[in-house]
Amino acid sequence: MLRIISWIDYWYRALARWVLPYPYRRSGRCRKCGECCKQILIGMEPRMLRLRPLRNLAIWWNAYFNNLRLIGSFIEDGVMVFACNYLRADGLCGAYNLLRPVFCHEYPRLFSHFEEPVVLPDCGFKFSPRKLI
Ligand code: SF4
Ligand code: SF4
Repeated sequence: MLRIISWIDYWYRALARWVLPYPYRRSGRCRKCGECCKQILIGMEPRMLRLRPLRNLAIWWNAYFNNLRLIGSFIEDGVMVFACNYLRADGLCGAYNLLRPVFCHEYPRLFSHFEEPVVLPDCGFKFSPRKLI
């Protein structure tokens, strides 16, 4: 059920991007290095993150539904850092076809129209400014 909701959210975002394109275009392809699966940053409002029950719920949620394990947190910055248990020793995804979370399908992506895109140093993807009218 959760996956269905995530996919509805995914298609809603795709539709929104189609109607109002981001000012950057993504190109390239994944080199399958696995680097982006080792430190996954998940943001939360710092005020919420300071509350231990909410923090624990977010940790449990990501462990249960996304198979992520917490490896660090920066509470005042509103960020938790997770690693993925699906990542294999050879750098490939152990859940590529069926189980990988929806956010993996979209990575790397922009989160807002005003964001400067960033990718990891040796990532096979890159962003370039889109020519707007
Ligand atoms: S599910 Fe696969 S692609 Fe997604 S973070 Fe884990 S190893 Fe990487
Ligand atoms: S860092 Fe880039 S090239 Fe490496 S696995 Fe992630 S998306 Fe693919």
